[in-house]
Amino acid sequence: MMMNVQARRRILICDDETNVIDAYRRILSDLVKADGSHSETALEALAADLFGEEPAALVDPGINEIVYCRQGDEAVAIFEKATSKGEPFAAVFLDVRMPPGIDGVEAARRMRALDPTINIVMVTGYSDHRPAEIAGIVGAQDRLFYLVKPFDADEVRQMATTLVHRWASDIRAADELAGRLQELEQVNRALQASEASALQAARRDPLTGLLNRKGLQEAFDTALCAAGEADGKLSFAYIDLDRFKLVNDVHGHAVGDRFICELGDRIVRATGQDGFVARLGGDEFAVVCTRQEKLDDLLSRLLAVSERPFADANLRLPVSLSIGYCHCDSSRDSLSDAMRRADLALYSAKSAGRGIAQIYDRNLDEEFLRSRTLARDLKTAIEADALHLHYQPLMSADGSRVTGVEALLRWSHPDHGQVSPALFIPIAEQHNLMVELGDWVIGQVIRDIRAWPDIVTSINLSAVQFGNPRFAEDVIELAKAAGISPAVVEFEITETALAGNMIDFSRQVETLCEAGFKLALDDFGSGYASIGYLSQLRFNKLKIDRSFISNLRLKPNAERMIQSIVGLGEAMGLTVTAEGVEEVFQHELLRAAGCDQMQGFLFHRPCSKEDVQRLLDRQRKSDRAA
Ligand code: C2E
Ligand code: CA
Ligand code: CA
Repeated sequence: MMMNVQARRRILICDDETNVIDAYRRILSDLVKADGSHSETALEALAADLFGEEPAALVDPGINEIVYCRQGDEAVAIFEKATSKGEPFAAVFLDVRMPPGIDGVEAARRMRALDPTINIVMVTGYSDHRPAEIAGIVGAQDRLFYLVKPFDADEVRQMATTLVHRWASDIRAADELAGRLQELEQVNRALQASEASALQAARRDPLTGLLNRKGLQEAFDTALCAAGEADGKLSFAYIDLDRFKLVNDVHGHAVGDRFICELGDRIVRATGQDGFVARLGGDEFAVVCTRQEKLDDLLSRLLAVSERPFADANLRLPVSLSIGYCHCDSSRDSLSDAMRRADLALYSAKSAGRGIAQIYDRNLDEEFLRSRTLARDLKTAIEADALHLHYQPLMSADGSRVTGVEALLRWSHPDHGQVSPALFIPIAEQHNLMVELGDWVIGQVIRDIRAWPDIVTSINLSAVQFGNPRFAEDVIELAKAAGISPAVVEFEITETALAGNMIDFSRQVETLCEAGFKLALDDFGSGYASIGYLSQLRFNKLKIDRSFISNLRLKPNAERMIQSIVGLGEAMGLTVTAEGVEEVFQHELLRAAGCDQMQGFLFHRPCSKEDVQRLLDRQRKSDRAA
C-alpha cells in the first residue's frame, strides 16, 4: 500500500483516569498543530532545500491530532476504524489497568493483530505486569515501549515526538520502497516487452518479414495439432527458384534482395487463406497448406507467381519455380519429416524439367537411398583410385584421321559392373564429390596426354567444379608443372552449366582461355536455346548433340537444323563437331552439311589409353609412308 508522506500524525491515548488524561493534555498540547500541516510542509520544504532530502530528521515533525479514550475496548474500536480507513495512528499510549473492561495488554494484543507495525507505549504502575511478560503477549518487542506512572512530563513529550518521528520516517521509507518497486516493475515490464519483441524477431526472416525456420516450426506444430483435432490434413510445399543465382550474379545482391521480397509477397498473396508461408533462406520458401481441398488450386497459383515481370526496372528474368510437396499426417509426422520428403520431391521436380510441382512418393526414398549408397561407393572408388579413363577419338570430316580424343570416365562397380557416367556424374554433383572427381580426371588426363602431345584432348567439366574459386589457377599450374601446352587441352562445358553461376564462372573460363586452353560447347541444342551464351565466352568449338544426329532419319527438319548450326559455327569461326555418328549415311550427310569433325561408334568407341597410343602410332607410320 502506498501511503502519503504527508499522512496526518495521530496519537491514540487510552487511560481510565480523568486526571491522567488531563495530564496528557497539558503536557502535549503545545505539540499539537491540528491544522498546521501547511506551515509544517513549508518548513519541511525549506529544510529540504537547505539540507537535502531528510527534513524529517531535522525538523520536529509535530503531531496533528491526539485522540483520547477511557476504555480498552473503545480504544481497539477507534484503532480498528482508523486502520481500515487508511488513517492509522502513529503511536498508541495504553494504560495497563483499565477496569472494568479489557486491560491494556489485551488491547495492545488486539491492535497488534490489526497492525503489526504499530508503536505501542504501555503505561504501567509498580505492581503491574513485567515488560517481559507483556512482550510475550503483545509481540514485536522493538515497537513496544514502557512508561511508569507517575510519569515525567519530558519523558512523555520525548516519547510522543520520537515515536511520531519514527513513524513518519518509516512511512517515508515505505513510500520510497514502494516507489522503487514500481520503478522495478516498470523496468521489468519493459524488459518483458523487449524480450517478447526479440522472441518475435527470432521467429521472422529479417529480409521479408516472413516466418523463418524457427517460426515455421511453431506454426507448423500448431497447425498440425489443429488439423488433427479437425480430422484434417496438412500439406507441406518446398518452393525453390530455378536459376535464381543468375539474378544475383547478373544484377547484384541489392536487386536480388528486392526480387526475393517481391517474390515473398507474391507467394503470400497466392497462398491467401489456404495456408501460411515461411522463408527458409536464400531462394527457398515453404508453404504449409491448411486446406487440403484447395491444394491443387494453391499449387497452380504458386507456379504462376513468377510469370508476371518483376516491378524492379521491369526485370524480365528467366526465373521459374519448382515445387516439391507432401502430405502430413498429424499423428506421425514432424516438420523435419515433411521437409525431407518435400525436398526429395523438389529434387525430382528439378530434374524432371523445372517449373513444375512434384508430389513426394515412396519411390523417391528408394531412389535417394540408392543414390546415396552409390555415392558412398563412388567416394570409396575415388579414394582407392578405382576409376579409370577411356578416350574416344575425334575424326577429321572424312573420317580418315584422328584429330583429337575426348576423355570419358569409367567406373567398374564391384557389384553392379560398369556404371555409366551419365548416371554417376549427377550423383557426384549431388553428393559433393564432383570437385574431387573432376580434379582426379584432370590430373589423370594431364599425365596420359604426354603420350600424344600432337593432338587435342577434350575434358568434360561440370559447372560444380567452378565452385572452387581457384579452379582455373589450379589447372594452369598443373599443366605448367607437367610441361603440357594448354593448346592441346580443350574443356567441354554444357549449356546447362552456363545457366548457373555466371559471373565467377565467366571469370574462370576467361582465365583458362587467356592461358591458351580451348573451350567447346558440348551437347549443343539439347538444353536451353542460348545462342546468346555463345558470344559471351570464347568458344573454339561447338558439339552438336547426339539426339540431333540419331534423329536425322526421323525428323525431316533435322537436316536443315544441322545446316543452320554449321552456318552459325562458320559465322562465328568455330569448329563444328558431330557427336554420336553411328551410320554411314549420317556421316555423309554431316560431311555434306560442312561439319568439321566426327565422333561416334562408326569410327571408334571410347578405348583405353594404350589403344589410343597404338592408333596414333599407326597413323604416324602411314603418314611417314605417304
Ligand atoms: P558426353 O560428353 O556427351 O560424351 C559423349 C558420350 O556419348 C559418351 O558417353 C560416349 O561414349 C557416347 N558416345 C560416343 N559416340 C557414340 C555413338 O556413336 N553412339 C552412342 N550411342 N553413344 C556414343 P559416356 O562415356 O557414357 O558419357 C556420358 C556422359 O557422361 C558424357 O556425355 C558426359 O556428359 C559425362 N561424362 C563422362 N566423363 C566425364 C567426365 O570426366 N567429367 C564430366 N563432368 N562428365 C563426364
Ligand atoms: Ca563431352
Ligand atoms: Ca556431348
